[in-house]
Amino acid sequence: MRIAILPGDGVGPEIVAQAVRVLEVLREEGLTLTWQTEPMGGAGYDAAGDPLPPATLALAQASDAILMGAVGGPKYDALPRDKRPEQGLLRIRKALSLFANLRPALLYPELAAASSLKPEAVSGLDILIVRELTGDIYFGQPRGRRRNAQGDEEGFDTMHYSVPEVQRIARVGFEAARKRGRRLCSVDKANVLDTSILWREAVTALAKEYPDVELSHMYVDNAAMQLVRNPKQFDVIVTGNMFGDILSDEASMLAGSIGMLPSASLDAAGKGLYEPIHGSAPDIAGQDKANPLATILSAAMMFRYSLARADIADRIERAVRGVLAQGQRTGDIAGPRDKVVGTRAMGDAVVAALRQR
Ligand code: NAD
Repeated sequence: MRIAILPGDGVGPEIVAQAVRVLEVLREEGLTLTWQTEPMGGAGYDAAGDPLPPATLALAQASDAILMGAVGGPKYDALPRDKRPEQGLLRIRKALSLFANLRPALLYPELAAASSLKPEAVSGLDILIVRELTGDIYFGQPRGRRRNAQGDEEGFDTMHYSVPEVQRIARVGFEAARKRGRRLCSVDKANVLDTSILWREAVTALAKEYPDVELSHMYVDNAAMQLVRNPKQFDVIVTGNMFGDILSDEASMLAGSIGMLPSASLDAAGKGLYEPIHGSAPDIAGQDKANPLATILSAAMMFRYSLARADIADRIERAVRGVLAQGQRTGDIAGPRDKVVGTRAMGDAVVAALRQR
């Protein structure tokens, strides 16, 4: 198992270092695991004048999976667009054809008070949003600005999905549901949009291959409401790029802190880039304050989805649950009476819990 480690900027190196300690424990136990680190984002620009230096892309292409921290920071805000850290992220997604974005929203019972919803509505929440990442209105042509017949300036974009694109992402949703609660909710706007009518037909046709998964459909406006009304009704949600963009951010707030949520972006063969959903948190960078758990949980996802070791993923997730149960809290998840630990100490706790088995 060859892993590319791309720490990135801001808190990236600090949180990724803790995930690497988890990998070290597994390697000490005899797992054949190798990894190599390359700069990405602002760090790539500093090292090689490019947010995705050729050596970084080559490493990512040659690896079985990629573990990333986060990119960006005020230092790079004035750079021309093609040199900005975020461009590195967009380019690596495109170069590796990472079309499926998986975002679990999981609320550990110990953190129920950190959610903006009532504890009883979210305690034990465990949903997975599967978002298509390379199509839809964000990429459809034509797009642009023009003058209409009345001489008024107007903007326009094109929503677009082909049947193979829908089936490809729906398959990821069905497969994920199979590994979880066997329920898939496809979200669209088929009461209004032709693209969504086609989406719904394509998902429904594919369902015949997955008789063991219960498929339902929901309009996106209702899904947005149901996510805050009764989020525990969902198991896996599959949706297009724009609806998924909005719903996955909504769902992440149900789970309390941004410092707890991992993500995966997968290609058709299951190779993936794994990263916490948060950014580089420049306000706390270098201060040993960042929560490393989202990154450690991203490493767990890497074992589940790219490295075919769900047993190791379960074990890492159990270790995280264990340290939360012990009362270990970084600042972002601490209540008023909790003792706050730093990034490194949280890593220590996870490593110790992992060693206990
Ligand atoms: P952010 O996610 O970096 O930070 C938002 C808030 O959450 C901050 O107060 C931060 O301290 C806190 N936070 C984030 N991660 C945390 C963690 N692990 N532990 C504790 N607290 C944490 O978002 P932002 O401030 O809007 O953006 C900062 C930079 O990150 C920008 O340059 C932005 O472009 C970039 N960014 C990168 C990614 C990515 O790499 N995928 C995603 C989002 C933002």
